[in-house]
Amino acid sequence: MGTKNQELHIAFFPFMAQGHIIPFMDLAKLFVSRGLKATIITTSPDAPSIQTKLQNYSSSQIQIFTIKVPTADVGLPENCQSLHCATTPEMHLQFLTATGLLGPQIQQFFQRKKPNCLVADMFFPWATDLGSEFGIPVLLFQGIGYFPLCAILCVHLYKPHLYVSSDSDPFVIPNLPGAIELTRKKLPDFVTNGEENVFTKLLGEGVKAQKQSYGVLVNSFYELEAAYADHYRNDLGIRAWHVGPLYLANERLVEENKSSIEEQHECIKWLDLKKPSSVIYVCFGSLATFVDAQLLEIAEGLEASEQNFIWVVKKQVGEDGWLPEGFEKRVEGRGLVVRGWAPQVKILSHAAVGGFVTHCGWNSTLEAVAAGVPMVTWPIFAEQFYNEKLITQVLGIGVCVGAKEWMRVVRESVRRDEIEKAVRRAMVGEEAEEIRTRARVYGELARRAVEVMGSSSEDLDALIHELLSYDIAQEL
Ligand code: UDP
Repeated sequence: MGTKNQELHIAFFPFMAQGHIIPFMDLAKLFVSRGLKATIITTSPDAPSIQTKLQNYSSSQIQIFTIKVPTADVGLPENCQSLHCATTPEMHLQFLTATGLLGPQIQQFFQRKKPNCLVADMFFPWATDLGSEFGIPVLLFQGIGYFPLCAILCVHLYKPHLYVSSDSDPFVIPNLPGAIELTRKKLPDFVTNGEENVFTKLLGEGVKAQKQSYGVLVNSFYELEAAYADHYRNDLGIRAWHVGPLYLANERLVEENKSSIEEQHECIKWLDLKKPSSVIYVCFGSLATFVDAQLLEIAEGLEASEQNFIWVVKKQVGEDGWLPEGFEKRVEGRGLVVRGWAPQVKILSHAAVGGFVTHCGWNSTLEAVAAGVPMVTWPIFAEQFYNEKLITQVLGIGVCVGAKEWMRVVRESVRRDEIEKAVRRAMVGEEAEEIRTRARVYGELARRAVEVMGSSSEDLDALIHELLSYDIAQEL
């Protein structure tokens, strides 16, 4: 199979934002690890940082193909080539519109490079039709698991939120195993307000494209959500392959550990001094923002919980008005506030970490699962309220903090006593022990899934086998 694999060339086409590019690179490396050739399609401002992360690969293994988003055509500056340059919600929509105009450049790419398969971001559902024109199978990738994929699809198809009389009336998501109950308040605003724009149009097209494409790649593993993997494939009728947890599969952690042994982050040294499972790690991903009043509640809640903690806050050093007076002095030795960015994967895999207050972003969720760490769930936006249900109700590896409403910026909405209570529930006592035992089992299953003969490894091999057969069939 090895030699044949080398004849396959897979192109990867992520949306122009770090949160999309990182898992796409993991994916590309995974295919390369099986002997395939990869090309990453990206814009020139993002190309150098991608190139830096490809130092261990030769150009015959992974290449970069640069394209230019025609942003000037939609009224954005020509050099706005990445989502982060679009600084307002209106500009985000303009940027999305501009990426919809990339078809001709992808056509040129198909003609010049003739890939055997394209893996496109779910934000580029139009790539599916383009692939059909050129006889190139297109796989879609959104970087989330089966459970949220099924939940999004079922809410989109059956619109249960239209049949309840108030925002807080519960409804069960139809045709989704497990009697998953939600309220309208916990759904994204773009689902409930009925507004039509380029984003909602894309989501609708994405739903259709999942069926029309060659299939969907899922960043998950079978044992984590077997019922939902089966439901997605057998009942909702979408061809899909699970290849995750991606960061485990391509050993990003091992690489990162090797590269930074000398420059250990302060919090790793701090954790080294703590007892096993005695620290709760608090971090809400890369995008969520909080009003200061809510940060104050978190500080008070953590202090009252009497647990050790590391709390990552997206604030700069010196920008400290949001902290209660004397807070860091009072919690000195048992609490560490990290400003900016923390090495999350390393923190979660440290033996001293015994819990994780998370916004339930899919990457954070998978990272906690793989590390066998129980979660305190505090969903905020995107598909995070669905992920909370998977963590707490389906898997039983977390407790809810009590977030009740989907929001773009976190207003003062969860009280200090709720935070204190949830942290204690996850960290101490009989319930915490039960949750921890279950979480550790899933951690072990995650590691096995990416090993030889593991469920994700096998699914990837099956996909590659199919692509090889597809290619041979095309040549006949
Ligand atoms: N992350 C990190 N350090 C931080 C904040 C986030 O390493 O201080 C990483 C985290 O490990 C995860 C990603 O950023 O891989 C966040 O992705 P997720 O899907 O959880 O949430 P998002 O940022 O998309 O809301």
